[in-house]
Amino acid sequence: MKFLCAVLSCASAVHAVGVGTCCTRLHQELGTKVSFLGQPAYDATESSYWSLQEAGLKPGCILRPSVPQDVSRAVAIIAPVDGCNFAIKGQGHAPAAGFANIDGGVTIDMTGLSTTLLSPDHSVLSVGAGASWLQVYQYLNPFNVSVAGGRNGLVGVGGLTLGGGISHFSPRVGWACDTVVNFEVVLADGTLTNANKSCHSGLYRALKGGANNLGVVTRFDLRTFSQGNLSVSSFVNTISQRGPVLRAFTDIVSSPKFDVYTSLVVGFLYNSSSKAWVISNSAVYTSPVLDPPVFAELAAVPSISNSSRITSLASLADEAPTPPLNWLFATATFKASAEFMLEIFDILNNTLYSFNPQGGVVWDVAFEPLPSMMLSHAAKTGGNVLGVRPEQGNSYIMLLSALWPDSVSNAVVEQVSRQAISTIESRAKAEGLLRKFQYLNYAAPYQTPLASYGADSVKFLQRVSRKYDPLALFQARVPGGFKLAKEGQL
Ligand SMILES: Cc1cc2nc3c(=O)[nH]c(=O)nc-3n(C[C@H](O)[C@H](O)[C@H](O)COP(=O)(O)OP(=O)(O)OC[C@H]3O[C@@H](n4cnc5c(N)ncnc54)[C@H](O)[C@@H]3O)c2cc1C
Repeated sequence: MKFLCAVLSCASAVHAVGVGTCCTRLHQELGTKVSFLGQPAYDATESSYWSLQEAGLKPGCILRPSVPQDVSRAVAIIAPVDGCNFAIKGQGHAPAAGFANIDGGVTIDMTGLSTTLLSPDHSVLSVGAGASWLQVYQYLNPFNVSVAGGRNGLVGVGGLTLGGGISHFSPRVGWACDTVVNFEVVLADGTLTNANKSCHSGLYRALKGGANNLGVVTRFDLRTFSQGNLSVSSFVNTISQRGPVLRAFTDIVSSPKFDVYTSLVVGFLYNSSSKAWVISNSAVYTSPVLDPPVFAELAAVPSISNSSRITSLASLADEAPTPPLNWLFATATFKASAEFMLEIFDILNNTLYSFNPQGGVVWDVAFEPLPSMMLSHAAKTGGNVLGVRPEQGNSYIMLLSALWPDSVSNAVVEQVSRQAISTIESRAKAEGLLRKFQYLNYAAPYQTPLASYGADSVKFLQRVSRKYDPLALFQARVPGGFKLAKEGQL
C-alpha cells in the first residue's frame, strides 16, 4: 500500500480567549458534532468511560468527529486559543482521571472514527482510531486473518496501540504497535498526514509507545496474519496452590524455547470484605490445539474448576462490560523467578490484609509473560520507543489493579497501591530482579513509564516532539496521560 505524506505548515499565533470561545468556534464550524452538557451526545460520551474517575469530569464541550478532517479542523481551531485545553478519547479504558477526559476543556471523542477496511490482498487492515478491538475482530472473523490487539474487545484501538499493546499474538508478532505499517495523524498545526517507514519515519517510530504526546491518530494501518480459532483454558485454584502455580508460570516464562502460541495471564484476586484470595488463570493457545503441552504443568495443579474450549477471537474478546466502578492500575516488570513471585504475594498480603476501606475493594494482581522473542520483532518493523530489548531475557509484567465502588476511598486506595508497589520494587531491586520498564498502558498516574523507556528513547521523543509540535501543544494543552515534558526532566 502507498501512503501520501503531507508538508508541515506553520503554526498560527496563540490568542488568549479560553474554552468558551473555543467551544463556540468549534460549534460554528462543526455544528452538531459538538455537544454541550445536557445534550444526548454529550451524555453518551460521558457514560461510555470505563472508570467513574473519568466519567466524573465535565468538559466544556465534546466533539465527536465523523471524518479525519473534523479532527484536523478542530485542532486548527483549538491550537491558537490559549487556555483551551483538550483531551483525546478512544474507547475510554484508561482508568485514571483526566487521561482521556477533561474538566472544563474540550474532549475529542474519537469513537465515530471506527471504519474497518481490509486491503484487497488481505495483508493490511485500515481501522479508524476510535474503534474497539471487538469491532475489528468481528469484521476480520470471516477472512481468517487477524491483527495483534487487545484481549478484551471493549478496549480501544487508539490507546492500546499508542502505548505498546499486548495481544494474544505478541510472542508471534510483537507489541501491537510493532504491527502498524502506517499512522494517519493530525499534527499540532492541524495538518493531516501519514507516518510510516518512508514518510515522517521518526514520527512513525515515536508513535509506537509515545502515547498522546505527538498528535491525534485518526487511522491505524495494521499488518495482518493468518489466524483461525484459538484454544482457551481457564483454571481456578485455591490460594494454597500458589507455589505450584507460580512455578508453572515461571517455567513457561523462562523457557529458552518459549512457545510462540502461548498467551497466559495468572491472576491473584483479593476481596477486602471477605479477606479471601483466589487464583484465576487464563491460558490461551493461539492455535486450535486443546490442552496444549505448554500448559500441562499448570493444568496439573489441583483446581477448584477448569475448562477448555476452541473458539474464535471475536467470541473470546466479546466480554461483558463491568458496572461503573473506580479503578486503579499500577505496574512493574521483573526477571522471572517463582521465589520472588511468592515474595510479591507475601508483601501484598501483608499490605492489603488489614485494609478494608468503605465499600470494600477488590485487588487483582495479574502476571503476564514478556518473552524476549516478543521484543525481537520491533527491529524488523521500524523500531519502537519502548526501550525493552530482547537481550534482557525473558521477563514478566505485573499489573496490580484495584476496583472499588465508593469514591470516598480513592485517595487511600491509591496510597496503599503506591506503598505496595514501592515495597515490591525495592525488594526486587535488592535481589537484582527489577527491570526498569513500566508498561505505559498499565501504569499508575504516579509512575513514570516514558522515563522508564530510557534516556535514548526520551531524547528521541523530545526531538520528534520539537520537530512536529514546536509550540508543545500536546504537552501543555493536552494535560492528560503521561507527558514527555514532565517525564523528560527525570
Ligand atoms: C478491561 C481492560 C482490558 C485491557 N486489556 C489490555 C490488553 O489485552 N492488552 C494491553 O496491552 N492493554 C490492555 N488494557 C490496557 C489498555 O491498553 C489501556 O487502558 C488503553 O489506554 C485503553 O485504550 P482506549 O483507547 O480504550 O483508552 P482511552 O482512555 O480512550 O485512551 C487512553 C489514552 O490514549 C490516548 N489516545 C486514545 N486514542 C488516541 C488517538 N487516536 N490519538 C492520540 N491519543 C489517543 C488518550 O488521550 C489517553 O491518554 C486493558 C484495559 C482494560 C480496562
